[in-house]
Amino acid sequence: MTRSTLTAAAAVSTLDLYGDPVLHVRSCSGWWFFNLQRSTFCIADPGTDPAFVTPSTWQPFVALQLSDDDPGFRVVLDADGQRGLWAQRCEGDCPRCAPPDRP
Ligand SMILES: [Zn+2]
Repeated sequence: MTRSTLTAAAAVSTLDLYGDPVLHVRSCSGWWFFNLQRSTFCIADPGTDPAFVTPSTWQPFVALQLSDDDPGFRVVLDADGQRGLWAQRCEGDCPRCAPPDRP
């Protein structure tokens, strides 16, 4: 398969799902999978293999706004850009997931 070069961020990787390129984004609330071929996405529990996600779980999306510089990313759900979801990438020693007493 051809690996995507969309971003080099550690929390983002690309995988191959039945021949479709799927972008895998780890966030604090779960794992997000974006099927770039079909423009569908789903949110799953961390550790989930997207091959086992129920087909009806995949929802259409219009655009994914993802930047190497900003841990926040946005999924645009309609052509007007009015509906969307927002989350933050979770990478390394994530300050949002780390215990509060950790230095
Ligand atoms: Zn986190």
